[in-house]
Amino acid sequence: MNRHLLDALQEIGERLTQAPHLLLCTDYDGTLTPLVDDPAQARLSPHMRRVLRSLANLEGTSLVFISGRARADLLAHVGIAGAIYAGNHGLEISGDGIIFVEPNAVARCAAVKELATDLAKKLHHIPGVFVEDKGLTLSVHYRRAATTAREEVRRIAHAAAVRTNPRFQLTKGNKVFEIRPCVAWNKGTAVHWIQQQLGRPDALTIYLGDDITDEDAFAALPEAISVRVGKPRRTAAGFRLKGPAEVRRFLAWVDSHLRRKKLLATATESTEAGEQEA
Ligand SMILES: [Mg+2]
Repeated sequence: MNRHLLDALQEIGERLTQAPHLLLCTDYDGTLTPLVDDPAQARLSPHMRRVLRSLANLEGTSLVFISGRARADLLAHVGIAGAIYAGNHGLEISGDGIIFVEPNAVARCAAVKELATDLAKKLHHIPGVFVEDKGLTLSVHYRRAATTAREEVRRIAHAAAVRTNPRFQLTKGNKVFEIRPCVAWNKGTAVHWIQQQLGRPDALTIYLGDDITDEDAFAALPEAISVRVGKPRRTAAGFRLKGPAEVRRFLAWVDSHLRRKKLLATATESTEAGEQEA
C-alpha cells in the first residue's frame, strides 16, 4: 500500500533540499482539474494556476505537463510560459527549447484519421458518445452515454482498434477509451527523454497522475516521487493524493519549500562574501 503524500512531507522536504534540480511532471485532467463531462470545460482554478506559474518561474525547476490530450489542446488549456508540454501520452513534446514528435506515431497519422472516421460511424447510434481525433491518437468519450451502453462502446472500439493494420492499443481512462498506435513510447519513456534533453540526469523527479497511462511513468521512474491521484487502486506509485485540491496543497508546499531554500542559499552566499571582505 502506498503512503499518503501529505504524511511524508518531512522526507520529501529533505530530498528537495538536497536536489540540484527538480523535474516536476504532472498530468492535467483529474490531477490538476476535477473531471468534468465536457473535456473542453476542464479548467485550472485561479489558485492552481497561480501556484503552477510560480513553480514555472523558479530557477532550478523544470515543469512538465503530460497528458493524453493533443499537445496544442493541452497548451491552450494550461498556457503557462516556461513549461514543457507533452501531449498524446508523451508522443509529442515542446517547450524549453525542445521539439519532438515520435516518428513511428507520425507514420500512423493517416490510420488514426481513418479509424476515427470509421468509429464515429460505428458509434453514431449510441447517444452521448463522442470520438475525438487527436492527430497521433484518438479518444472515445462515453461520459455522457447510458451506463448500459458502455460495454457495447468498448466492444466496438476494441474490435476496430485491433482490426486495423498496423494495430492500435486500447486503454481505459476516466469514462474514455484511449486508442494509441503500438509504438515503444509512453509517458515513462517521454519523461526519461525530457530528462536527457535537459541535461539533468541528477534531477529529482516528481510525477503526479491519475490515469492508467500514468502507470507507465510510475513504473519507469523508480527513483522518482511518484504520486497516484484519485480513488485508491492498484498502482506502481509510491504515494497517493485524493484529488486536485490535495495536489494544489502539495504543489504550494513544494513552491514555498524551494523559495525558502533559495533564500537560505542567497543569505549563506552573502554572509560568506562579507566574511571574505572583512
Ligand atoms: Mg488524468
